[in-house]
Amino acid sequence: MEAEVRTHTALHVVKGAVVKVLGEKAKWTAGVYVDGNHGRLTVKFDRKPTPEEVAEIERLANGKVKEEVPVKVYELPRDEAEERFGEDMYDLFPIPPEVKTLKIVVIEGWNVNACNKEHTRTTGEIGEIKIRKVRFRRSKGLLGISFDVLD
Ligand SMILES: [Zn+2]
Repeated sequence: MEAEVRTHTALHVVKGAVVKVLGEKAKWTAGVYVDGNHGRLTVKFDRKPTPEEVAEIERLANGKVKEEVPVKVYELPRDEAEERFGEDMYDLFPIPPEVKTLKIVVIEGWNVNACNKEHTRTTGEIGEIKIRKVRFRRSKGLLGISFDVLD
């Protein structure tokens, strides 16, 4: 399994953990970055999380990895996908209106996201996630969470 695929899939797992710990306010993804086993998730948020919250995000994310749950991908007409999953599947950066079919990645009870990238089949294939750095930019209201996926 390519490192990029594992790291990309980890973004979905980390995002789920971020929303569990920080709440619905943190549900809008503003950017993602992947380079090898290094990843960064950036969400809209209004403050810097406490060290305890960051530790809890890492703990929950790794718990989801250990559960080895399926990473399901549905390909659906866009209107059907919107009816079924609502705005929660979208990120802050919009998908162009001419795109009429969406791939929806679903980690049950954890993360739903319109995403056409490649993913691991289960969360277990990701491996351990280690949060390396958290950066909050108050002026932009953006919280960046940098992590590594360990081998
Ligand atoms: Zn994805």
